[in-house]
Amino acid sequence: MTGLTLTFTEADPADVDRLGGKGAGLARMTQQGLRVPPGYVIGTDACRSYLAEKAVPGGLVDEVFARLTELEAATGKAFGGGPVPLLLSVRSGAPVSMPGMMDTILNLGLDRGAAVALAEATGDARFVADLVARFHAMYAETVLDALDPGAGIDALVEAVDPGEDAGPVYDRVWAACEQALADDTGDSVPDDPRAQLVGAIEAVFRSWNTRRARTYRDHHGIPHDLGTAVVVQSMVFGNLSADSGSGVVFTRNPVTGEPGLFGEYLAHSQGEDVVAGTRTPDPVTEALAPDVLDELRTTCDDLERNHGDVLDIEFTVERSALYFLQVRSAKRTAEAAVRIAADLASEGLPLEQALRHVTPAQIRQVQRPGFDDAEVERARAGDRLLTTGIGACPGQVSGALVLDSDRAKEQADAGRPVILARPVTSPADLHGMIAAQGIVTATGGSTSHAAVVARALGTTCVVGASEIVVDESARTVRVGDRTLAEGDEVSLDGASGELFAGGFTTSTPAAATAALGELLGLAAGASGCAVLSRVTLPADVAAARDAGAAGLVTAVDDVLAATGHLDGLVASLLGDGDGIDRIADLVAQEFTPILEAAGDGEVGVRAIDLVADEARELLQQTAVTTRHPELSVPLGRPALIEAQLSGLARALADSGGRATVHLAVRHLSDPAEARALRALGEGTGIGVGAYLTSPRGALGAGAIAEAGDVVWLEVRAVQAAMFGLPARQLLTAEPLDGYLARGMLSCDPRTTVDPSVQTLLAHVADAAAAVPGCRVGLRLSGEVSQEAAGQLLGLGFRRFAVDAAETRPLVLALGRAALGV
Ligand code: ADP
Ligand code: MG
Repeated sequence: MTGLTLTFTEADPADVDRLGGKGAGLARMTQQGLRVPPGYVIGTDACRSYLAEKAVPGGLVDEVFARLTELEAATGKAFGGGPVPLLLSVRSGAPVSMPGMMDTILNLGLDRGAAVALAEATGDARFVADLVARFHAMYAETVLDALDPGAGIDALVEAVDPGEDAGPVYDRVWAACEQALADDTGDSVPDDPRAQLVGAIEAVFRSWNTRRARTYRDHHGIPHDLGTAVVVQSMVFGNLSADSGSGVVFTRNPVTGEPGLFGEYLAHSQGEDVVAGTRTPDPVTEALAPDVLDELRTTCDDLERNHGDVLDIEFTVERSALYFLQVRSAKRTAEAAVRIAADLASEGLPLEQALRHVTPAQIRQVQRPGFDDAEVERARAGDRLLTTGIGACPGQVSGALVLDSDRAKEQADAGRPVILARPVTSPADLHGMIAAQGIVTATGGSTSHAAVVARALGTTCVVGASEIVVDESARTVRVGDRTLAEGDEVSLDGASGELFAGGFTTSTPAAATAALGELLGLAAGASGCAVLSRVTLPADVAAARDAGAAGLVTAVDDVLAATGHLDGLVASLLGDGDGIDRIADLVAQEFTPILEAAGDGEVGVRAIDLVADEARELLQQTAVTTRHPELSVPLGRPALIEAQLSGLARALADSGGRATVHLAVRHLSDPAEARALRALGEGTGIGVGAYLTSPRGALGAGAIAEAGDVVWLEVRAVQAAMFGLPARQLLTAEPLDGYLARGMLSCDPRTTVDPSVQTLLAHVADAAAAVPGCRVGLRLSGEVSQEAAGQLLGLGFRRFAVDAAETRPLVLALGRAALGV
């Protein structure tokens, strides 16, 4: 043998790259002693060679025939002969699951002699006629690209009497099939079983490169150079008798995650019939004979424990004997993934295995209401997409269109979900923005008032939808030649920036399920990390706590913007001395309810930041810093810091004084600044610290930590600084999506921690270890990828602050990273 093939018995099931998923699963089940029809695998290397050389690799055909002799010995059957003929299935199976993308041929090996022998062995000529017709159709379709198996063949098979003489039956059916094929493509199926076998194997190789397989791989990011393995396996027959059949079963419900077998069985059928949908299958738990069902159940339990995951299993029953034909990890909904992981962990599966198949992205999906993907696809295709703006705050919401904030509030108070459409928003719109499910503006970018406030509120928002014309007097919104009236249903996707006409079915979030709570508790235990959540309104606090937040972070400017004090704040900043006292009052007033809600937890408050790239428009940066240039440096106007400290101190006292509160100032980069800040905080009862945003600050983190209670490093700001990009460009899809697609950057600064930044972060991690009296952590923005979570944990960080919606995904990602998943 030239070593291109491996039998199920001798193959190493771990070698998925070579055996493909299907081959590896069959080898594993065979070696576990399950009833698997004997067979072998042609490795992916043979396929790669075939595709490169455009010819069957040397020695493969000989090896295939040698394996055939072994299969005959193993089964006691003869290929292309009697007394009991050996029929084969030739199946594709890539290293990565590509369900239904490539070809399979069943019932291969039936020449006239074999047909007669099989009829004798089974006593059923109609069964044989059925196999002949099925084989011919599958071979014609997959090897010869025929389209239509030919009308009338089914009827011809139906008309065969089981007791008929099989020779003439074979001749009749074969001739009819051949005629139909000749009419269709002018081709002919070889009647020599060995030629059929080689033709089928080549067809499976070729199926790797069909258009649909390539499209599937492009869509799922699967490399095109893996190649497929080919499984050659002896057939069992679910279409042999009434106590035969075929089915597919999941070891748990893949939609809800509920435990218990979930699947379908079709008596008197071959596997393809279940998929073809021409007959309706029955639930396995009802249709299988009790002893077969028992065996299936026991085996599924064993297999699931063995694989450490929920499985999707194809099986066939031949005369009451159960055969296993395929096993793989089951595809599942996000909701099922969460439930299953929690259940597997509580059933005693090691945590690193239970967490393997649930991802931060799935957590995001279950905790947020969302549209049905298929429905959105149809809406795009069906002309319901009105326009695409800039996604400013993610979320998928439907509601009635309203054009002003008063009406938005009225409608929302009456219990109607609304989408607020404005040319732009201003502080005067705040009540409407708080009331609305979603906000869309015609102008403005990712740092406009609408965008910043929506992010602070966590409200779905699209800005800069420049094609919409909001006509407040006519009470309409025009988009191109379409006109929507106020009250019309629309839908908004705050991630993609799309605005649709009409509503979508929206899933309700399953965030608060017990399963998710359990799972996150386990993940948090595994990582030992504290994740703090960003909140802006008192109502956010309970939600953050439910999500497992170890504390809260917030910002003075966000809180004042979200409580309607933006104009007052800007006026105070523009004014002189006494304006600042007003800020203390506002802080005292608006932070009291937040600190009340926070109870005895930690609350980190970021001081007003006039230099932030994101605050340019919101805080009228240019006007304020032109008038008071000293506000451009972190501690340029100590009175502003003192006002916030005293406001917080009052709020703390008024709220009962239980929370641990600190005020952190952005952009410190020098220990002298940190010491000056500590002096300001002295005696106020409020801790102080730094939000580091610069490489210099990161490098000096140790000395800065010495003089403070907390240090946060803002990863996005430091990434932006290292890339020399404005920080706001790291908040949106464009321009970076397009730029990355052109290959202009080797790393996406929104999702990956650049190596240059990792070096800086290492200094901060050292500071965390060296200064135990100071709480040192990372402030992360946007979605945190699993990869980034792993990198940061690896650097030694154990304390993080994120946007509220990212709390659960990050807790999970850190747990997975800690367990090496
Ligand atoms: P896919 O990758 O599209 O699932 P498969 O190779 O699994 O294709 O084949 C599809 C179906 O064909 C299987 O589910 C099974 O029912 C049937 N089948 C495949 N091999 C055999 C076999 N050796 N005996 C009986 N049925 C088989
Ligand atoms: Mg299959």
